[in-house]
Order: sequence, then structure tokens, then C-alpha cells
Amino acid sequence: MSLTVQKFGGTSLADPEKIHRAARRAIRAKLEGHRVVLVVSAMGHTTDELLTLARAVCADPPKRELDMLLTTGEQISIALMAMAIDAAGHEAISLTAGQLGLLTDSAHTRARIQRISRERLDRELAEGKIVIVAGFQGIDAGGEITTLGRGASDTTAAALAAVLGADVCEIYTDVDGVYTADPRVVPQARKIDEISYDVMLEMAAAGAVVMHSRAIEFAKKFNVPIHVRSSLTDAKGTMIMSETQSMEAVAVQGVTLKEDLAFVSLTAVPNTPGVAARIFAEVAKNHIVVDDIVQNIYDGGKFANLGFSTNAADAREARAVCERLAKSLGIGKVEVDEGVSKLSAIGVGMRTHTGIAATMFEALAHAAINIENISTSEIVISCIIRREDGPKALRFIHDAFKLGDTDNRPGSS
Ligand code: ASP
Ligand code: MG
Repeated sequence: MSLTVQKFGGTSLADPEKIHRAARRAIRAKLEGHRVVLVVSAMGHTTDELLTLARAVCADPPKRELDMLLTTGEQISIALMAMAIDAAGHEAISLTAGQLGLLTDSAHTRARIQRISRERLDRELAEGKIVIVAGFQGIDAGGEITTLGRGASDTTAAALAAVLGADVCEIYTDVDGVYTADPRVVPQARKIDEISYDVMLEMAAAGAVVMHSRAIEFAKKFNVPIHVRSSLTDAKGTMIMSETQSMEAVAVQGVTLKEDLAFVSLTAVPNTPGVAARIFAEVAKNHIVVDDIVQNIYDGGKFANLGFSTNAADAREARAVCERLAKSLGIGKVEVDEGVSKLSAIGVGMRTHTGIAATMFEALAHAAINIENISTSEIVISCIIRREDGPKALRFIHDAFKLGDTDNRPGSS
């Protein structure tokens, strides 16, 4: 018997009517003959509201207690969802991560899933119930409640789909799929019908906010197709799946803007073996997420300038860590620029098409936008630019790659 995991985000559960609507979808899948696991987020803006509340009580809330507080949001949703399904005359059961046995490490507010027990899930499914799981939360070996990071209900859903060998993991949201660019910034953006795990991962890492990256990693590793679709209509959304040949036909599938970045520059870094290792070991030890790294040497190789982009939220900590390192390693200067964004173009077709970088740089030149740093990988080209140039830059490159055109886009509609 096939198995479907359906995940509903906060906006799709914002009020009782929306909860009923989501419940009806789950019931429909059940009546069509699938076993159904539902994963839900907290209603509406509950998580944000709880965070605000926490900060009103304590300037720097202990992470363990934050997890204790924030997980209540999902607990409300699972209970209400089970009630809605019951009200419609069908059987359901709500489960917290602890009840289910979704085990994580102990890193509060950013825990990682280690193991998911199938026992309880299988038992409830075998009894014909729709199983409703609280997204975003976990439990560690000591029984402490953890969370998986903001937006991580997606990850709960994908991980469950992987463990259960689901046929599909449906992510119901308030947009009707993945777009060639954020449609709020680029009105010409179009919905993509099919996208590969790798392109989606790069788009998420580069700022597309459609889905949590770790969810896509799980899906890729276990080859579970993800269907991102609207909770309001029955229209097909975007399938995130293994790469197909037709995906290679297009050089660039999407463009993104990542705004919440800071750029850390270390100048006059002694260029001797082990220095970069020391720097990044220290940065990692302090849980600072490094985005792109740029280094070049000068003065006959005696010194290097080293830069990396990081989350704006980590900028203060990154500065403190780098200033300590500068003292101990004899680094010239540390500068942190919090006014930057990263603009990226992404597509598997880049492997075989030429001139992609040139098209992007020309578009930016045409818009009179300066490029501060460039980084590339097999399927991504990124530029660090001033934050105020971001939206305009995004529109220009979307246009340059003809992403809004209807006729040259296999994989789009
Ligand atoms: N409720 C959590 C959040 O707002 C998890 C999620 O929605 O995915 O981050
Ligand atoms: Mg979300």
C-alpha cells in the first residue's frame, strides 16, 4: 500500500477553517487508498510570537527553554488537526517527537536528526489511522526536547518520508511551487514544473526560501520525490526529484538573492601552512556558518587576503572570533561588512552551456551594479553586491537569462 507524507506550513493552518481544509486533503488521500502521515507546523505566526514573548521575559533566553517553549506551537497544531479529522468522522492520532521516537543530538535550537523509530508509526498506520506528527521538534538521548532550526518542519516531513519509504512527500504551502525567482521581487518569475535535488539545494542555500535545505538533503539521499504545492488549489506544483536529461537543456533554472549576509575580510594574513585551518576551525567551533570563502595571495606569496561570507546574525560573533585570531596569528586587519547581499544564478545546464558568467556580469554592468566578490561552483555563479542593489540586480539577471519567457523553458509553465 502506498504511503504519502503531507506537510502543512503555518500559513496553511492559520485558522480553524484552514485546519479543516488540510484535514480534508489528508482524508482524501486516505480514501484514495494511501497510508497517510501528516506533518504540521505551528499555526500562522505562532513561532514568531512565542519568540517575541520569550524575549520580553528574558533578553537572552536559555536555548533549552526556547525549545521547550517553541515546540508548544506544533503541539497545538497536531492536537487540533487530529480533532478536525475526528470531526470529519475519520481516525487519526497526534504524536510529538518524543512519543514517536524522533531522536536528535543535543544541540538545542539547531539539533540534527539521528534516528527515527518506525515502531509507533507502523503500529498506528496498520490500524488505519492518519498519523499526525509535530514538525520541527525532536528529543535527545537524555529525553530533552530539541528543535531542528527555523522552518524545519519540512525536514521532519522529508526525514519521515525517507524512513518510511514514502512514494511522495507533499509540501503544502501558500505559494504554488518553486519559482525562477522570488515573484515578490521579480513579477515575471515563473513556476518551475520539475527541478533536481541539486539545483533546489543550491537555490535554497543561495536564498530561495521555499524549503528547508536539510529536507531536500534527506529527500535526495533516499530518493523521495518532493511535491511543493499550494494548499489552496489542486494545481500541480513543483516536483523536486532526480535529475532528468531535459533539465540539462536549460543553462540557468533560477536566480536568487540572499540578503541576510555579512562579509568578513581578513587582510595581511601570514601565508603559511595551517593558518586557514586554524581560522576556520575556530570559526566552526563557534558555530559560525561560513558561506563562500575567497582567498588570494600577494607580496610574492608572503601574505594573503582572506574573506568569507556568513549569516548577518553571526556577524558580531564572527568579528569577535576573528579579532581574537588576528591577535594570536598576527593578522593585519579584520573588517566586517554587514551591507552586502549575494546574487546567484543556478542550473545543471551550466555544466554544458558556455558564456553563463559573461551573461550575468554583462547584465550587472548594464544595470551599473558593482560586483564585490565572485564565486562559482559546477552549477552556481554568485556575486556579492551592495544590499541596496539586490532587487534590481535580480530583475536584470532574470531578464538576461530569459527566465520569464514562455517558449524557451522546458520544465516551466
Ligand atoms: N514553526 C517552526 C518555524 O516557524 C517550524 C516550521 O514552521 O517549519 O520555524
Ligand atoms: Mg516553512
